[in-house]
Amino acid sequence: MKRKEMNNVELTGQDGLTTQQAQLQLAQVGANELVAARKPHWWQQVAHHLSDVSSLVLLFAVGLATYMAVAQGGGWTKPLVIGAILVINVVIGMYQEASAEKALAALQSMSLPTTTVRREGIAQSVPAKDVVPGDLVLLKAGDQVPADGIVLSSTNLAVDEAVLTGESVPVTKETLTDVTALRDTHQVFSGTAVTAGTAVIQVVTTGMATELGQIAGLLNRTKKRATPLQGRLNRLSGWLTSFAIIGGFIIFALSIWMQNQGMADSLMIGISLAVAAVPETLPIIVTISLAHGVKRMAKRNAIMRRVNAVETIGGVDVIASDKTGTLTQNQMTITQYWTPNTQNPMAAEHLSPAGADLMKYLGLATNAEIQVVAGEEKTTGDPTELAIVRWLASHDHSRQAFEHAAPRIAEDPFDSTKKTMATIHRLSDDEQLVIVKGAFDRLPVAWRQGEQAQAQRIHDEFGQKALRVLSVGYKVVPTTTKVAWASLATDLTFAGLVGIIDPPRPEVIPAIREAKRAGIKSVMITGDHMVTAEAIAREIGLLTPGQLVMSGDELRTLTDDELAAKIQNVAVYARVSPTDKIRIVQSWQQAGKTVAMTGDGVNDAPALKAADVGIAMGITGTEVSKGAADMVLTDDNFATIIAAVKEGRTVYQNILKAVEFLVGVNFAQIFLMVGAVLMGWGAPLIAEQLLLINVLADGIPGFYISREPGEKEAMEQPPVANEESLFARGLGSRLAIRATTFTFLTLGVYALGRFVLTNNQATVGMTMTFLVLAVGSMIDIYAIKDRQPLTLGSLRRNPVLNWSLLLAVALVILIATVPGLQAMFGLVALPAVAWLVVIPGMFLPTLVLELTKRVQQQRPARLRAELD
Ligand code: ADP
Ligand code: MG
Repeated sequence: MKRKEMNNVELTGQDGLTTQQAQLQLAQVGANELVAARKPHWWQQVAHHLSDVSSLVLLFAVGLATYMAVAQGGGWTKPLVIGAILVINVVIGMYQEASAEKALAALQSMSLPTTTVRREGIAQSVPAKDVVPGDLVLLKAGDQVPADGIVLSSTNLAVDEAVLTGESVPVTKETLTDVTALRDTHQVFSGTAVTAGTAVIQVVTTGMATELGQIAGLLNRTKKRATPLQGRLNRLSGWLTSFAIIGGFIIFALSIWMQNQGMADSLMIGISLAVAAVPETLPIIVTISLAHGVKRMAKRNAIMRRVNAVETIGGVDVIASDKTGTLTQNQMTITQYWTPNTQNPMAAEHLSPAGADLMKYLGLATNAEIQVVAGEEKTTGDPTELAIVRWLASHDHSRQAFEHAAPRIAEDPFDSTKKTMATIHRLSDDEQLVIVKGAFDRLPVAWRQGEQAQAQRIHDEFGQKALRVLSVGYKVVPTTTKVAWASLATDLTFAGLVGIIDPPRPEVIPAIREAKRAGIKSVMITGDHMVTAEAIAREIGLLTPGQLVMSGDELRTLTDDELAAKIQNVAVYARVSPTDKIRIVQSWQQAGKTVAMTGDGVNDAPALKAADVGIAMGITGTEVSKGAADMVLTDDNFATIIAAVKEGRTVYQNILKAVEFLVGVNFAQIFLMVGAVLMGWGAPLIAEQLLLINVLADGIPGFYISREPGEKEAMEQPPVANEESLFARGLGSRLAIRATTFTFLTLGVYALGRFVLTNNQATVGMTMTFLVLAVGSMIDIYAIKDRQPLTLGSLRRNPVLNWSLLLAVALVILIATVPGLQAMFGLVALPAVAWLVVIPGMFLPTLVLELTKRVQQQRPARLRAELD
């Protein structure tokens, strides 16, 4: 790749850059990030908003009104008012979009990767964007390479360069010894993943100058994709738009035919109706609702890396979760041990001579460390191994002392596929010690008479107590034997086994129950033995009667069809490897289910990508797993996933509520206009009035429905199926009720005002209809925002909504009562008695919806009773 550039690199000293040098570099070359696409100019945004269907139609209306003003000589209010409405429409649209984008930008800054650099001789974790050319970066398996660089030192370094080359087989990299002989194998590239080994690299280029940056330049040009829900809503919008335009056309045709109104007037009213009935705010309400969901999830420790995932997580059917650390606390403690030739296991506090040997072997084959810095315990390493280190400490032993006596020569690291780890130690000039620790059934032991059955019995006994079991074997070989793991790790002498307790997280138990009520299946995945897995699964309520435990071995013998037939009944997968996870995900997906899957290691990345929602661990997870995930849990906690599901469902509900709010009245407007014209009454509202209702009612309160907090009921329903219609779950019937109420109400009010209260004064009927429709459609947002019957508490839950509503209502009343404004919108002062009709009329639709809720409430209550 960029060999030339790398050839001229001056090597940084062993200690790395100084903080000052790094700062200077950062100021010079800029942050190590892929620059986002340039923001469009404000005039490009204006143009974008003007090209909306509703803006285009409005523009046409302004033109038409101007033409009429010129043709009729005077009457300039109409074009001015419609022009102003057009401007307000565009301004509101731009404001809404800006606030959505701001929220999304905040989201991106939450999931910034970090990396380890050595500066002034000290290894420190820094945000990857602060890495500069010249920095020494320390890499280990699971890390993401933060910048392009050369390998200064390495052991067994292998890197997955699929992002750049598409080739997913890891590439081995070597230490650069001779600067003049630089080859590709001496270089690592930004965005690639370390799959094995460790290395120190010197950064050469950062940010857009890297190989990845060059590709990212292309990525910036690709368009943002709509989420599935956005897609569905766009289709709905398209459908409603056609309906609006047809409605407008019908009104236009009818008023010419029946009323002998002027061509231009008829056209104007048709156009206004079309504008009013187009739900132009819908797409932006989706974006802003998703953005709010992201914010609320972050507060609950779930960081979304992809906005679409907010929607997806709300609809998951299955959550497949790692056991260790996610369902359990990852606070492991050895409670019991057993060595051959004793009848029963011993408590960890009492150490027999054989137990002391077992402890020594365990200690030697361990990498974890605990240091006490300023009274605070600082731990590094695997929690399982930390349990060993703690056990040593509780008996006044230390790893270091053991290692001093038998220095380690080599290590074959633990890996969750083979489930063992081995080390070799020097005992004397001609003898070395091989230790293998790991899963009981994976340990290559040469069993002595009767020993195996007894060990198996103890192992199972530990497992039934929900203990994680670790076994150890050893063998002494001559120093002349070469380090070849396959041949060394055989015929071991069994040293014993330990039982490690890892208590479940207490909050997981209610979380699993909540998931079940919400129609979500929780599945446990673990590398632990079946017996242990089963005991814990039972303890946390995940394994219920009728559900099965399946081992990885069994899973691998099943064909895809056999697995598909069983998968619904399996709640626990034990002794699985990362590659098994993909099959589990895919099998569920083939059954049409939406699957969330957790993972933390490098090997988990493919499963995280395959899942509909890949979930990485913020604390114990590798950078690679985070990079592959859609969501990162900052507390590694299963309960957080359930909290995120709830937020996701709230977002979905809020979007549906917005649809209900926007669409119901749009239909009523069409029916009102067509109905009145058919009755021979002429248009009951004029263009300016329709447009004003559209801007104030749809644009202002409708927008803030996205801020509604979640409802309890959100977690008491089955997940939304992929193909479920937007109108399922009562939305269709609620829309119908609302449209019907408004149609009859407004027609009635108009007739009352025009024919009963006055002697055929159309303007009085018009003013009354305007007030009832405008204010009535705004305040019934309260009936829509809550699925539960309205209470004082729910009225207070969304202050922004209240204020925006108050503002909008005040504006409407002002326009309808202040003489100058009245005239502009073709309204008149109402006789006092008319207000006696108008005011109750404004509240009637809310009342109707509230009554419907109370009737419908009986049904979900029954459903809930059945679930419990
Ligand atoms: P999990 O997915 O539950 O974390 P793992 O695959 O990490 O499970 O572990 C599976 C088994 O491997 C454990 O039951 C234990 O016997 C063994 N094991 C776990 N960690 C280590 C380790 N650091 N060294 C050796 N063996 C281990
Ligand atoms: Mg593990």
